[in-house]
Amino acid sequence: MVGCFGLIQDGHSSHFPPDRLVENRARIDAFKLNRAGAFAADGVVTQLRWGDRGYRLERQAPNILAGNICVPVVWDLQARPWFLCPRCWRSCKHLYLDEIACRRCCGLDYSSRHLHRSMPGIHRIERWRKLIDADPRPFTPLPHRPPHHVRFHRIAANIIAEEATLVGHLASINRDLDRRIRSRKRLYRW
Ligand SMILES: [Zn+2]
Repeated sequence: MVGCFGLIQDGHSSHFPPDRLVENRARIDAFKLNRAGAFAADGVVTQLRWGDRGYRLERQAPNILAGNICVPVVWDLQARPWFLCPRCWRSCKHLYLDEIACRRCCGLDYSSRHLHRSMPGIHRIERWRKLIDADPRPFTPLPHRPPHHVRFHRIAANIIAEEATLVGHLASINRDLDRRIRSRKRLYRW
């Protein structure tokens, strides 16, 4: 419950609408398309499908046609392709459907800026846990490793310290909620 502040579909004006989250939107990725050969030759057609929907991309060198929108493609020194957003001309790796525009032009934001915002360190814990192949959820058991695994034990120590901070934070929220409940009881004489 605590980790969901700010992202609830209850129409509250201060909550960010889920359909404006990057993670909830279909997008095209220039690097992945390149690996799949979508830029390999003029006229190459790539059909994208997600769910029951589809999208057609056609290479029209030096651009790519996404639906009926012409998207310029530029290449960096590492031979990686970047889209130029058809609205703002910013170079970007991802364009979002159905607008075919960059994250900013579509008014999208990352869920991490809204989810967990009241849970300090939650992403660090998740990252460290993944580094040692542990369950990414906080407070789940850590795998066992022999004592000479210096890197493992260093990361495990970080996780334990960060989770202890999180426990302190959650306890402070509990105290705050308890206080609110008590004051409400006094107010309404439950
Ligand atoms: Zn843009």
